[in-house]
Amino acid sequence: MSTDVDLGDDRYERHREAGEILTQVRAEAVDRIEVGGSHRELAEHVESRIRELGGEPAFPVNVCIDEEAAHATPSVDDDATFGEEMINVDIGVHVDGWIADSAVTIDLSGHDELIEASSAALDAAIETVGPGVDTGLIGDVIGRTIEGYGYNPVVNLTGHGLDQYEQHTAPTIPNRKVSQGVELSVGDVIAIEPFATDGRGKVSEGSDEEIFALDREGSVRDRSARQAMSQITEQFRTLPFATRWLDIDRPAMALRRLKRQDLIHGYPVLKERPGALVSQTEHTVIVTEDGCEVITG
Ligand code: MN
Ligand code: MN
Repeated sequence: MSTDVDLGDDRYERHREAGEILTQVRAEAVDRIEVGGSHRELAEHVESRIRELGGEPAFPVNVCIDEEAAHATPSVDDDATFGEEMINVDIGVHVDGWIADSAVTIDLSGHDELIEASSAALDAAIETVGPGVDTGLIGDVIGRTIEGYGYNPVVNLTGHGLDQYEQHTAPTIPNRKVSQGVELSVGDVIAIEPFATDGRGKVSEGSDEEIFALDREGSVRDRSARQAMSQITEQFRTLPFATRWLDIDRPAMALRRLKRQDLIHGYPVLKERPGALVSQTEHTVIVTEDGCEVITG
C-alpha cells in the first residue's frame, strides 16, 4: 500500500472537477426523463451541458432501455422516445483526461425494487472500500446484496479503474465474489457499478453499434473516412465516441470503412435476455486512508 500519495495533487483535483460536473448534469438528466421524452435530446442535452460547465464527455451518454445494459447511445437521426420502461443513463466526464463515471437508473415501468437492489449494492460496496480491501470482497458484498432482493447481479459486467484518457484500467471491480481479487491502495480511482436484473445475470452482444474507439492511426483513401480519422485523433483520442459526434456527411459509412481497416473498433450493445430488466447504479470513488471519497455525488 502506498502511503506517500497526495490526494490534493492536480490529477485528483481534475477528477473532482469532472465529478462535480457529472453530478450536476446527472441531476438534470433525471429531471428530463418522462414518458414521450426523446432519447437523442436527452443525450445531446447532457453532452452539451458537460461542455458548457468546462468538461468534455469521456464517452457518449449511454441510454439503455429495459434488457439493454450498456453501450446503447442514440444514432444520428434517432427518434426513439421513452415509454413505461426501465431507463439507465450512464455518463462520463473528463477534465484534461481525468475521468468521472456514474450511472443512474430511472423506472417508468413499476419495478422500482430492481433499482433499490443496485443502489443498495453500491452503497454497501462504498462502505466496504478502503486501502488493503480485496476487490473480491467488494464483489461478494455487491452480489449478496442484489441476491438479497431476489435478483441476479450481472456477473460479466464489472467496475474498473480510471486513468488519464483511459476509461477502463485495472483493477476490475467484480459484481460477485471472485477468488483472485487485488488489494486496493490509497489513491486508486475506481468506478463501482452494480447491475441488478430479473434475467439470467449475464449479458451478450446485440447487433446495434453506435459507439466506437480508435485502435491505431492510419491513412485511408476515402475522403470522409479521412476526415473522420482526423476528428477522432484530434478530439476523441483513445476515448469512445458516437457516430452522431462526427462532423461529416454519412458518418456511418466512414466508420464502416475505418472498421474494415482495423483502425477503430465498435462497442456492440450489451443485453440481457429479451423481456428482462436491468438496473445499473454507478459512482466513481478515490480510495483514502480511512475508506473512500465519492466524487460523483
Ligand atoms: Mn459508466
Ligand atoms: Mn464504468
